[in-house]
Order: sequence, then structure tokens, then C-alpha cells
Amino acid sequence: MPETFDERGAFDAIVIGAGIVGAACARALARTGRTVCVIEKNSAVSATTAHGEGNLLVSDKGPGPELTLALHARSRWDEITAQLREECGPHFPDIEFEAKGGLVVATTPEGAEPLRAFAATQRAEGVAAQDVTIAEALELEPWLNREITAAVYYPQDAQVEPVIAAEAMLRSARLAGAVVHTHTEVIGGIHEHGRLAGIRTTRGEIHAGMIVNAAGPWSGAVATALGAPLDVRPRRGMVLVTTRMPQRVFHKVYDADYVGATQSADADLQTSSVIESTRGGTVLIGSSREQVGFDTALRVEVLHALAAKALRIFPFLAGTAVMRTYRGFRPYVPDHLPVIGEDPRLPGLWHATGHEGAGIGLSISTADLIATLADGAPTPVDPDPFRVGRPALLREAA
Ligand SMILES: Cc1cc2nc3c(=O)[nH]c(=O)nc-3n(C[C@H](O)[C@H](O)[C@H](O)COP(=O)(O)OP(=O)(O)OC[C@H]3O[C@@H](n4cnc5c(N)ncnc54)[C@H](O)[C@@H]3O)c2cc1C
Repeated sequence: MPETFDERGAFDAIVIGAGIVGAACARALARTGRTVCVIEKNSAVSATTAHGEGNLLVSDKGPGPELTLALHARSRWDEITAQLREECGPHFPDIEFEAKGGLVVATTPEGAEPLRAFAATQRAEGVAAQDVTIAEALELEPWLNREITAAVYYPQDAQVEPVIAAEAMLRSARLAGAVVHTHTEVIGGIHEHGRLAGIRTTRGEIHAGMIVNAAGPWSGAVATALGAPLDVRPRRGMVLVTTRMPQRVFHKVYDADYVGATQSADADLQTSSVIESTRGGTVLIGSSREQVGFDTALRVEVLHALAAKALRIFPFLAGTAVMRTYRGFRPYVPDHLPVIGEDPRLPGLWHATGHEGAGIGLSISTADLIATLADGAPTPVDPDPFRVGRPALLREAA
């Protein structure tokens, strides 16, 4: 018998990766009554989920499947927050869910009409996108640059503290019977009768009928190691954090050009401003996008570009100090849609990945889809656009 490090040796489901997507999937699967084992190569919640922001946005998504997924997630966050609070108890830190709303502004005359037109397309899909006058925008955000040319208010936009949210989901999964093995790296698959029947790890083997690849930007490497390559790449992002200050930013405020940056396939540097204050009193200024592999170097020109764009929205930031900066790697797929479901090339292998810059928000709907698909139950949204076998994805896979 090969060595196994878990006395059970076999589970209904293994989830690879203890970021927010893996945590949400483990929780959802454990709550269906399945035995679940989470395998994480480092510490739990130490990778992308700990290096981003906590925006739960509908405002940055145009009509299409990602918006549908985001609207479903948004409809669930209040309920999930209440459940986690109840399950984790009063001594567990609050996940800081806050339905604070978002304000998207145009900073140039040419940017005004496209912003209003984009909001109109979203309204047609059920997004609450309210055109506001400059005076109304200044009432919402008194410190805003008075030179802005247009603004749209999105009351559905919200925020969460991603690390605490993911840890709370992991705790909830454990309470439902899941086990979590950290510092255990998945290095290969166990194949039986054309199926993926288990995984090989640095600590031994373990079996399951369902293995969920939720390894974030490393999902491509994990998929290859398991025998079904997938084109998931890292897309680096950097964030600036100011020192604490009295609150002067009250919503999520961002530049309308952010939407173009998220949807761009350009590998070169893109920056756009998303500005928000945290409960701790700091202001987060995000974020950049560039495809440079897993390069961890901090680049001053990226930080400079981020800061310069933020000043176009909030000139008062010119007088504030940056306390620190950090970076992470978004899990990017070429058609900008998450990959959710069973892999038709290798039954037993499931993917829950490719959320790029929206994985905190979309973790909830991803978990709902994985659990309902596994049960053969009606899904909350159409899973077809996210299927693993879609041509855009497999065409690119080497
Ligand atoms: C700068 C920046 C800002 C962002 N802002 C937002 C935002 O405001 N809102 C939002 O929704 N999203 C945001 N994102 C995106 C979001 O952070 C990600 O989409 C999300 O965290 C992905 O979660 P994950 O669980 O898939 O990946 P991760 O958190 O990276 O978790 C994957 C885990 O898999 C583990 N793993 C990898 N390989 C193996 C292996 N072989 N064996 C075992 N374990 C393995 C890793 O160690 C890791 O812990 C941002 C990202 C960045 C970089």
C-alpha cells in the first residue's frame, strides 16, 4: 500500500488550494454531506487571496456570463456573512462585509459618454446603475476632484476582508467535517480506468471520487501535473496602502478606464485607479495589471503610475504617505471567464479557477455551481459559459 498521511486515505472530494475559492468550494461540498479534504502547499490563505483587495463589484462587469455570476454572488453575500458569523461564533474576527456602494467617475471629457453608455447596458441586465450629476457625486464623495466629467453610482458594490472571509469559510468547512492539510503539495495524479481517482502529494497519496483544482494562478501547473493541461496564467497586480487617516473616502471609487483594463488581453502594464478606505483607517489604491510570470520584483514605475492616477480622482492624496505596498498574481485565462466544472478530458478532475481580479466576489457563486453540478441539481446560473471544454480555453492550452 502506498503511504498516506491522512488516516482516512479516501474522501468524497479533495480540494486543491486553500485560497478563498478552495475554501468556498470545500464549505459548499462539506455542507452537502460529502467528506472533504483540502490540500494546501503552503499555509492556508497565504497566496493571491491575501494579496488583493476585497471588492465585490458588479459595476465593472458588462452584460454577459461574468456579470450573471457576480449578481448571483452579490445576492448571496449578506446571507453567507450571517451564516459565517453564526457558525464561527463571537470570538472569530468579523469578515467586514460592507455594502458601501461604488462610484465610477470619468476624468476626461471623452470618457463621460462611454461611462453613461456602459451603465445603460448594465441597467438592462438588472444592475442598479444610477447616473448622478457632478454635484450629487460630490455629495457622496466630498473630497472628489471637482473636475470629473461624469459619474455613475452602483449601490450593489460591496467590500469584504478577503483573508478573514476565506478563513471563516475554512472554519465553517471544518465544522461541517472537512479536514485541511497545509504544507502538503500536490505533485501528480492517480489514474484508474480513465478517471482521476486520487492525488500524489509530497506527503503521500490520497484518493477521492472528485478532485477540485482551486490552485489559483498555479492551477495551470496543477492541471498539467494531474494530466489535463489548462491555460491559466499569472497576471500581476500591485496595491498601495496609505497611512491611517480620518475617513475621506466613503465608497469604492474608481476611474471608468478600469473596466477597459480588466478586459484587456494586453500583456503590457495597465494601471487604473480603484480607491477605497478600510475599517482600519488606511486607504487602498489599486491596481496594476501585467503579465510578467511570477516575477515578485516591486517596480517603482508601476507604483508611480498607480499613485498618479489616484490623484486624478482624489487630489488630497498628494499630501498622504504610503505606508506599504504589496503585489499578487491574478489567475488569468485568455477569455476572462472563470473555469468551473468537471474536465471532460479526465473525469474526476474538476476546476474552480481563472477568476482573475474577481475571485473574492465570485468565490460564492463558484462554490454554488460546483456543489450543484456535483449533485446533479439545478444550478443557480447557466454553467455552460464556464465549462472546461470551451474552445477558447483548450485552443490556447499547450
Ligand atoms: C492586486 C490584486 C487585487 C485584487 N483585488 C480583488 C478584488 O478587489 N476583488 C476580487 O474579487 N478579487 C480581487 N483580486 C483577485 C482575487 O484575489 C483572486 O481572484 C482570488 O484570490 C483567487 O483565489 P484562489 O483561491 O483561486 O487563489 P489563491 O488565493 O492563490 O489560492 C490558491 C492556493 O492554491 C495553493 N496551491 C498552488 N499549487 C498547489 C499545489 N500544487 N498543491 C497544493 N496547493 C497548491 C496555493 O498555495 C494557494 O494557497 C485581486 C488580485 C490582485 C492580485
